[in-house]
Amino acid sequence: MSERLDGTVALVTGASSGIGEATARELARHGAAMALVARRGDRLERLAADITGAGGTALPLPLDITDQAQAADAVKRTVAELGRLDTVVNNAGIMLPGPILDAPTEEWDRMVALNLQGLLYVTHAALPHLLTAADGGPRQVADLVNISSVAGRHATMGAGIYNLTKFGVNAFTESLRQEVTARHVRVSVVEPGSVETELRSHIREEIRNIVMRRIADIEPMQSEDIADAVAYIVTRPRRVAINELLMRPTEQV
Ligand code: NDP
Repeated sequence: MSERLDGTVALVTGASSGIGEATARELARHGAAMALVARRGDRLERLAADITGAGGTALPLPLDITDQAQAADAVKRTVAELGRLDTVVNNAGIMLPGPILDAPTEEWDRMVALNLQGLLYVTHAALPHLLTAADGGPRQVADLVNISSVAGRHATMGAGIYNLTKFGVNAFTESLRQEVTARHVRVSVVEPGSVETELRSHIREEIRNIVMRRIADIEPMQSEDIADAVAYIVTRPRRVAINELLMRPTEQV
């Protein structure tokens, strides 16, 4: 029942590594032309070369989506250069856990700026184009997929502000879903547990050691597992909307 994405255009934020990179490769494999957004241009260039080398289309867009003008520019350049926009994967995110008491509040600012504001800016710029795609596009349906986390469903000690941002993503997703689903823009949320990526490399060392000890005995998921889930969501027939997908490594309690 899986449908092809030929003739459609997809934009993935955080495409320079981890889940975003794997998702971009997977959606390209399904036939979508890809707009690749993140700050590290060299990584995006390499990914774009891989995708075009395999017969696909890719547009690297080295931009910082915490800046509203750059987020809007990502969407504008995608539509200008690839012609349309059918699918958005709001994946870029950062996790900086630690106790709330005496926290370095610049870490809070970074999480709120990217996980919430960046996602909002991209969504705001993309929505008119997604509505157009749903109205007259090749599939008569469009998709917005937000990458949240298990941390968007369950709050835990030491993850307070990350929880705040991901609970926010879940709430926003459901509200927007109700607003646009009757117009055939499907709005979905994916909530992964532990995935082996660069995500933890940004955590302060003393906290990172605690996090790593907690997950040491668990075989993590791979980025491709999440990419596969996103591809599943966006390749459903027009009548089917996968609203929410919670996925954990089998050994994660
Ligand atoms: P990575 O650190 O590998 O990827 C994060 C991506 O976000 C990078 O491509 C990074 O690229 C991009 N990014 C960071 N800042 C910005 C910015 N200002 N503007 C544009 N892009 C930016 O981690 P993951 O792949 O693991 O994370 C992807 C998503 O998955 C996140 O939302 C995370 O919260 C979520 N998640 C991850 C889990 C895990 O265990 N790994 C579990 C549950 C959810 P660059 O630095 O080049 O800008």
